Amino acid sequence: MDVLKITPRGYCHGVVDAIRIAKHVGEETQGPVHMLGLLVHNTHVTDEMQEHGVKLVDAEDRMAGLDKIRDGTVIFTAHGVSPAVKEKARAMGLTAVDATCSDVIRTHDLIDRLVGEGYEVVYIGLRGHPEPEGAIGHGPGKVHLVQEAADIESLEVHSEKVAITCQTTLSVWDTDDLIERVRLRYPHAEVHNEICRATQERQEAAVEAAKEVDLVIVVGSTRSSNSKRLVEVVEKKGGKPAHLIDTLEEIDPEWFRGVKRVGVTSGASTPSQLTRKVIEFLQELEPPA
Ligand code: SF4
Repeated sequence: MDVLKITPRGYCHGVVDAIRIAKHVGEETQGPVHMLGLLVHNTHVTDEMQEHGVKLVDAEDRMAGLDKIRDGTVIFTAHGVSPAVKEKARAMGLTAVDATCSDVIRTHDLIDRLVGEGYEVVYIGLRGHPEPEGAIGHGPGKVHLVQEAADIESLEVHSEKVAITCQTTLSVWDTDDLIERVRLRYPHAEVHNEICRATQERQEAAVEAAKEVDLVIVVGSTRSSNSKRLVEVVEKKGGKPAHLIDTLEEIDPEWFRGVKRVGVTSGASTPSQLTRKVIEFLQELEPPA
């Protein structure tokens, strides 16, 4: 089959840094080393980290996750944690290693500054995802989560000074839409769109490529926000079907019935060797007529 390799795709700088830090700490540190939640949202990367001596404490709620650790070292993942989680780790006597992506840290710094200046912040993000949990923890009671339009009506903002910001890995277009909706309610709100460049570039490339293919395959894990958003933007903005697969075995040849050209991209936490295998498989595939 004719395969369009969509670029950019795969690892972003935040994931590369987090993996480098965790591998180094896992190999060089005496005593138990834990990652507090998935280091990055990819099952293959998590398995690989465990081979390097980093145990997984699978907890989307980071505070609760800390209770499962007795001693040793804890690695905060690329998604970042709240100051309260850092404080609790310190109080427990754990050695903390911070693998938070620099783009997430920038959002934390932004929220710290805004809250310090008396703003309340409307934060667009996914409920239950660790990144919003960490970001909102930078302004307890002052940062309000909005996941969908219905959340805007029930917002209770008490300050005259309002700012809007967001999770780094959302859909560019859905977030623009939600920002506009929040601004209908708070026309004076300051907007700080924090979708990271890696997310933005991968989405724009996938939507552009959708014009030239019949179908797009996104290689990534179901827990990866940016991978799931790639599927969404291809379908909603690019107007083509898309499938998310974590492994080669999940490919259903029936998807390719009548397909002449397929595009392949991958989430920011997907190892490139995995995507390469998928591309090679598809190049050899004879689609059903
Ligand atoms: Fe950082 Fe963006 Fe990569 Fe997340 S997707 S780790 S915010 S660069």
